[in-house]
Amino acid sequence: MKASQFFISTLKEAPADAEVVSHQLMTRAGMIKKLGAGIYSYMPMGLRVIQKVEAIVREEMNRAGAVELTMPVVQPAELWQETGRFDKMGPELLRIKDRHGRDYVVQPTSEEVVTDIARQELRSYKQLPKNFYQIQTKFRDERRPRFGLMRGREFIMKDAYSFDRDEAAAKASYQVMAAAYRRIFDRFGLRYRAVAADSGAIGGDLSEEFQVIAATGEDAIVYCPTSDYAANMEKAEALAPAGPRATAANPMVKTPTPGKSTCADVAELLGVPLATTVKSLVLATDTLNEAGEIVKSQVWLLLLRGDHDMNEVKVGKVPGLDAGFRFATIPEIESHFGCQPGYLGPIGLKLPVKLVVDREVAVLADWICGANQPDFHMTGVNWGRDLSEPELVADLRNVVEGDASPDGQGALAIERGIEVGHVFYLGTKYSKGMGATFLGEDGKPAHFEMGCYGIGITRLPAAAIEQNHDERGIIWPDAIAPFTVVICPIGMDRSPDVKAAAEQLHEQLVAAGVDVLLDDRGERPGAMFADWELIGVPHRVTIGDRGIKEGQIEYQHRRDAAATKVAVAEVLDFLK
Ligand code: ATP
Ligand code: MG
Ligand code: MG
Ligand code: MG
Repeated sequence: MKASQFFISTLKEAPADAEVVSHQLMTRAGMIKKLGAGIYSYMPMGLRVIQKVEAIVREEMNRAGAVELTMPVVQPAELWQETGRFDKMGPELLRIKDRHGRDYVVQPTSEEVVTDIARQELRSYKQLPKNFYQIQTKFRDERRPRFGLMRGREFIMKDAYSFDRDEAAAKASYQVMAAAYRRIFDRFGLRYRAVAADSGAIGGDLSEEFQVIAATGEDAIVYCPTSDYAANMEKAEALAPAGPRATAANPMVKTPTPGKSTCADVAELLGVPLATTVKSLVLATDTLNEAGEIVKSQVWLLLLRGDHDMNEVKVGKVPGLDAGFRFATIPEIESHFGCQPGYLGPIGLKLPVKLVVDREVAVLADWICGANQPDFHMTGVNWGRDLSEPELVADLRNVVEGDASPDGQGALAIERGIEVGHVFYLGTKYSKGMGATFLGEDGKPAHFEMGCYGIGITRLPAAAIEQNHDERGIIWPDAIAPFTVVICPIGMDRSPDVKAAAEQLHEQLVAAGVDVLLDDRGERPGAMFADWELIGVPHRVTIGDRGIKEGQIEYQHRRDAAATKVAVAEVLDFLK
């Protein structure tokens, strides 16, 4: 591939709404282009990455015996009414009407359609097991689409669905997928962890999330460095011993009491200097009556993002709230509650924690998160539930670094991750809901035992970047880089030798099956290098006049601090 024939479009600055590094870098590197909230075009450079992700997934799914098909993006509501999900699912499900007024959904996932296919096509136990998968566009009307491809509304998912004759066979199919996922994520070249996840109403242990480890991840992962134990926070909390665990050495009992503690109490409790410019904070409010007496006090834990001067967050600007409030930083809160640094932030994505739920807090929340302040995002540490204050404290205490493992194998550690895959044993939930049966060996109809298995195809590149970048740009693992090698000729238009050497190397690498791009745009070296460092191509070869006279070219890996001289004659072997 030659750059002049390809499409390269880089930006010096990230757009103002790009909060996380992957969103910033993917936009700056010309990989994605925003069309609307959570809706992106995959530009040529980005599409190459997505296609490499897809190719690995496709290969390993096929190897594991799954069969590819493609199901419609727009699906008749009738199927979704059969399982009740048409009404049960919240506004995340995009419902549309056709010209005749008939209801449709834009698929957020495809259990209904695949179960409909199975009940028509899979008639006998002899056709089982079967695992159907697709790599297809999904739409979820996410409450807060953001972070670029990380949480889009339209995105690409690989979703697979297994059909089995009984529970034991279904569990075996699940294990086949769990193993295939390990191969897939190994091949991506990323640091990841498979963690036990909540299996909802079905119970049991057959739900695992595949989490790419990154400090900016939305999810907290609890793992044991000396054993195999790893779970997401929800699951770990469910196993953790209940109740307060304050000890003399760790006196976490000084919690503010709603209606009793004042802001001053809270400040003292937290023992913090009251910082004014923080990205995350604990907010305490006192509501005063006309006589200036405190009639109500609240404490609220917020994680705020955005480059805002907290001095601007003034009481006077909050309609209907005459209160004073003060701030503590997240590290201070973490240390107070005895959590490992990083446990709470830096980015939280869940719902606000309402320590005391009342009108003032709601007003404040609206104001902070409202349309006037689009860069403020509010979240708590309760992983999606509103907690009372004692619950919050218990929640924070429940799983703390250094606790013993549920498996009795050692102390726990906590890190953050990005959910890029999920495998899930479904049982007969959908087959019973939709009357999907096959004829068993005994001649009697039986409901399919099912599993479902997702991979966030377009989330994966974003997660890879969160894990692998520096101040100059992206650092792709070879397996999913848009190009593996870039050839940067210096002064190609002036020097016939450079041009000839660059073109020859390009042809040789193409012939050797290396995914290579020749940058023949005629850019100056500085601009050219900056582009490729931003785009993150892992291997760079620089060809210049002087080097050629010496029979040498320069090689530099994206992680190397400096280039290495390589003999022209050896470069092919070196790169293959
Ligand atoms: P999350 O907890 O991040 O909302 P989920 O648990 O709702 O994800 P699943 O229903 O398990 O997602 O879907 C399978 C995979 O699809 C997820 O593991 C994730 O990688 C990906 N995915 C889910 N929602 C999005 C989204 N809004 N944008 C991009 N990828 C997504
Ligand atoms: Mg979700
Ligand atoms: Mg999830
Ligand atoms: Mg999930």
